[in-house]
Amino acid sequence: MERLQKIIAQAGIASRRKSEELILSGKVEVNGEVVTELGTKANPEEDIITVNGKPIRSEKKVYLMLNKPKGVITSASDPEGRKIVSDYLKGVKERVYPVGRLDYDTEGLLILTNDGEFAHLLTHPKHHVPKTYLATVKGVPHGTELEKLKNGIMLEDGMTAPAEVEYKDVDTATNEAVISITIYEGRNRQVRRMFEAINHPVTRLKRISFGGILLQNLKRGLTRNLTKEEVNNLI
Ligand code: URA
Repeated sequence: MERLQKIIAQAGIASRRKSEELILSGKVEVNGEVVTELGTKANPEEDIITVNGKPIRSEKKVYLMLNKPKGVITSASDPEGRKIVSDYLKGVKERVYPVGRLDYDTEGLLILTNDGEFAHLLTHPKHHVPKTYLATVKGVPHGTELEKLKNGIMLEDGMTAPAEVEYKDVDTATNEAVISITIYEGRNRQVRRMFEAINHPVTRLKRISFGGILLQNLKRGLTRNLTKEEVNNLI
């Protein structure tokens, strides 16, 4: 037996808090009876639980990573007909969705799951989940410029939190540098905007780690299941 709000959240329908609101507002039924009390427990395997009249399915939880290629959009559909992440999930039966987003032009590690609570936990700003990117940028930033990114820099939507920043490579032929940057926030186009703010625009961006999970040598466009250890370390 588990708490109803936990069952609803785990079914990927809503966050834990939103699930509580659904219960309180009388949208949830267990075996045909409206339940509005938050402490109520149910058996996700045996009881018939509905939200807004629709039965929830307690699917097997799956946790995957995809090495997202650039030129792919992280959403369920695209009116412009661009490639979407689910084009790379043909072998996955469960309906999974991405944990956070990567820009159309960003490649690398994207985690996907049907565990709504897990997704919510990892994307909530208060959890400060570290995300590491390799950014190829125009020109070679000075140490003092990188210090600004480390300490926090003013963007349109406010100061960024401290980040870890490290030179990885400098290509004098193309006048580009590769810099590893770890941020603990997830604002829209944040890494690109941070480098724009020091006048070294990003020409290539690849996420190589998320909450300690490493992309390593997974081939572009392929997926693999996360191991139990990877999932448990994240929770
Ligand atoms: N920062 C960006 O600018 N883009 C991403 O896709 C992720 C982080």
